[in-house]
Amino acid sequence: MKMNIAAMLEYQATDQIIYKAEQAFANSAENRRYAAVQSKIAELRQAVIRMDKDASDARREIEKKEAQCAEITEELSAGLDVGGENDLAEVKKHEDMLLEYENTVDRIEKDVNKFLRRLEEIEREVKQALQQLKKCNVELENSKNVLANKRTEMQIELKDEVMKRRAIQSKLDPKELEIYKKVRKENIRLPILVEYSDGLCRGCGMHVEHDLQGKLKESGDIAECPNCRRILYLK
Ligand SMILES: [Zn+2]
Repeated sequence: MKMNIAAMLEYQATDQIIYKAEQAFANSAENRRYAAVQSKIAELRQAVIRMDKDASDARREIEKKEAQCAEITEELSAGLDVGGENDLAEVKKHEDMLLEYENTVDRIEKDVNKFLRRLEEIEREVKQALQQLKKCNVELENSKNVLANKRTEMQIELKDEVMKRRAIQSKLDPKELEIYKKVRKENIRLPILVEYSDGLCRGCGMHVEHDLQGKLKESGDIAECPNCRRILYLK
């Protein structure tokens, strides 16, 4: 396959200036801060969802314990209703029943209190998380504005270069540009159009002579580097 190397290299030179500026923008402290606030917000939202679930689990446990309490109370009154209070053995039996009932209720109450304390704790945590979320949302709005200003700045600085790239682009063969853009989209570090010489890819430095199997014969021939996927050309 062939390509108009000189024209494409001219395009790449201006594209590289724009790419560098875009990379610098992506790696800027402003952009990192914005991303960090965004992930903090996502983290807090997840935490709130988790705490909500924990709270409903605790509420369900409390309901279960209360139902259990109602059930044994009913059982107790049914047992006491049988009568026979004059019989000493029956009186002793009722006393034992009452004692067991009180012990069980005590135990259930302790469990209920444990879940109530957990609920309070969760409510406190949710409140804290929501306060943090509020702060983060303000911070997100601020860092978004800062970032937007930075982007505008970058766009103003790059304006001439973008115009230049557009002018060169209009002179290029669309098919060749398509090949370049396809690789460009893969997030491979520029330059992506690199010279092939002495059996080496000048992009990644790998020896690729054997892999190419004579694909690059004449000046203007291109092939994909099997290692880094850059476009190799023969001068
Ligand atoms: Zn390579």
